[in-house]
Amino acid sequence: MNPEEVLKQVALEVSGCTRCNLHFSRKLAVPGEGPANADIMFIGEGPGFYENEQGRPFVGAAGKFLDELLANIKMKRSDVFICNVVKCRPPGNRDPLPDELASCSEYLNRQIQAINPKVIVTLGRYSMAHFLPNARISDIHVQATNVKGRLIVAMYHPAAALHQKSLKTTIEEDFARLPNLIAKAIQNGVYGKPIPDQAPEQPELIPTEKKEPKQLSLF
Ligand code: URA
Repeated sequence: MNPEEVLKQVALEVSGCTRCNLHFSRKLAVPGEGPANADIMFIGEGPGFYENEQGRPFVGAAGKFLDELLANIKMKRSDVFICNVVKCRPPGNRDPLPDELASCSEYLNRQIQAINPKVIVTLGRYSMAHFLPNARISDIHVQATNVKGRLIVAMYHPAAALHQKSLKTTIEEDFARLPNLIAKAIQNGVYGKPIPDQAPEQPELIPTEKKEPKQLSLF
């Protein structure tokens, strides 16, 4: 199967998935969207109310802010692939449970392998934890990290800025640095090796940029 076919197949399976209890309460599953040859993949947490209604990722308030952040760096939504770690809405927008994350991780890994993006930007702690289970966003946000040949850039979730004003500037500044990080990644060839289906127990971290760790306990 070519990458488009893999993505279509994953979307088909996700739309009828019954692997975890989230299928009981979902209206529409949200597999993700974007070109199969996208250089950048954004991975959020899970669908919210509007995503569950429309079957599309980031179409609510956090999505509007994400669109703005992309526009600020001259990127369009249609240039990038956007999806979530869990493909069905957790009721009441609660945090996804371990078994829900585990049930969905195979779908996400197949999407990543098909797209083979140059850079993966994780939005929020659950998507960061898929690659860097022991990291804290406050320590590593916008620090490009090579996880088994895949360039991962952790960012705060755009919804965090809607709840916490002080984070808005941080996220805007982090996004502003993204084009440079991507250019560097391409220049240094720090991307493109497929990761195994099973996330490694202890990812090998090779920071590509030095940054003083900050103390912050919220995220
Ligand atoms: N928040 C997410 O993490 N994902 C969405 O699709 C929408 C809001």
